Amino acid sequence: RAARFPAVKSFDTFDFTAIPGLNKMLVLELARCEYILRRDNIIALGNSGTGKTHVALALGLAACQKGFTVTFTTAASLVSQLLEARDERRLLKLQRDLASVKLLIIDELGYVPLSSTGAELLFETFSQRYERGSTIVTSNLPFEDWTSVLGSERLTGALLDRLTHHVSILTMNGDSYRLKQSAARRRNP
Ligand code: ADP
Ligand code: MG
Repeated sequence: RAARFPAVKSFDTFDFTAIPGLNKMLVLELARCEYILRRDNIIALGNSGTGKTHVALALGLAACQKGFTVTFTTAASLVSQLLEARDERRLLKLQRDLASVKLLIIDELGYVPLSSTGAELLFETFSQRYERGSTIVTSNLPFEDWTSVLGSERLTGALLDRLTHHVSILTMNGDSYRLKQSAARRRNP
């Protein structure tokens, strides 16, 4: 079910030399999807434009191709879906659906600060998936700044505790690929 992916990206079109700090061996190992059988998580951290969404989509595609159920969403969209479901009294159904997917990809945690109810619902999602399925999170913020998005230090600690218990961390800091491409276009229009 790759139908809801915002774009199709694969590792075939990913230039690892553009982001030398990224562990290519680890990424290619993850693309084999064994972490999903172990219910391990992945966190990709780095500034904007460094390929976090590309890598998350490529891992999602690899998982789909291996037959795993995959859901791709952004943190902001997931939280608004959870809030809407709660208002419409169908939260349990959505939570059950979210807990049963083999790979849940939550992109862009960090750009939009969450309400306290939103942060609690997001925490519940992690809690319900803990050791049941794999979650990929991408964020522009280092862990020490996650409290600024989630509001509460206690909640952030508990969320990170679950998320990072079995985790591979991809460090993706570097120059923005978008900026590099537009600079190259200006040189060679
Ligand atoms: P981020 O999510 O970290 O902000 P994206 O994954 O959206 O960055 O990358 C921005 C654009 O640049 C996308 O079109 C993506 O496919 C492309 N891109 C980023 N890094 C690379 C790379 N190393 N090789 C090929 N394309 C890349
Ligand atoms: Mg992104």
